[in-house]
Amino acid sequence: MFVDSHAHLEGKQFQTDREQVIARARAAGVETIVTIGNGDSPASLEAGIQLAEKYDFMYSTIGVHPHEASLADKVLFDCMEQLAKRPKVIAWGEIGLDYFYDHSPRDVQQRVFVSQMEVARSAKLPIVIHCRPSGSGEDAWEDCLRLIGEHWARGGLGGILHCFTGAWKHARKALDLGFMISFAGNVTFPKAQQIREAALQVPLDRMLIETDCPYLAPVPHRGKRNEPAFVTETAGKLGELRSLSREEVGEQTSGNFYKFFKLAEIAENKVPAR
Ligand SMILES: [Zn+2]
Ligand SMILES: [Zn+2]
Repeated sequence: MFVDSHAHLEGKQFQTDREQVIARARAAGVETIVTIGNGDSPASLEAGIQLAEKYDFMYSTIGVHPHEASLADKVLFDCMEQLAKRPKVIAWGEIGLDYFYDHSPRDVQQRVFVSQMEVARSAKLPIVIHCRPSGSGEDAWEDCLRLIGEHWARGGLGGILHCFTGAWKHARKALDLGFMISFAGNVTFPKAQQIREAALQVPLDRMLIETDCPYLAPVPHRGKRNEPAFVTETAGKLGELRSLSREEVGEQTSGNFYKFFKLAEIAENKVPAR
């Protein structure tokens, strides 16, 4: 059993064959999927929720990606606050900082990140963090972890550091701030030694797995469109590192996911969500 804790299944890349993609995930043992509610733009914020409402094994998030931070006006915030009340929404995200692409100015990204932490706290939802520094720099990590420390950590709701690409010291800090660390397909890439070093040290009970599909397909699917079924490859790589089978990594990370989101009763009884 596997949980894909971060998929962009509502995106246009799955427009033509979404049903088959979901069927392949189920056949591969993926029993729960979180689809990220950003849609292709803030204009389609509801897309992830609508998809999750169609399947009892799927959940959604709500939020504005740092790329689109400059589009986050009052109307959008009001809309998100309403959508956050829908039963299938289990987290606020993905939010954070992306200094690699700088699609929105950094000061705007920071302001919108902090504002979203505030509304997430009101909605009592954990947050899903996207953090990407410029090049090999530390800039986004420093700002991101500092802002979480100042504006979020005390509330105790925690969150997920999604698609972890940093070094162990960043993971260590995020763990101290109450976060789960989620590994994606890039842990399988030959050059990703830094991610594997972190993956060796993150406590097993704080680890999650995800695809971030359609991006970052793991080896041996690298370069193709990613899909939730491929999360098993990420589990396999983590298993190699931690001397576990891919099934054991699946069981462990699924258990972590259900426990973090207090969905244990779903895992045990297979009853529909909330
Ligand atoms: Zn991301
Ligand atoms: Zn994502």
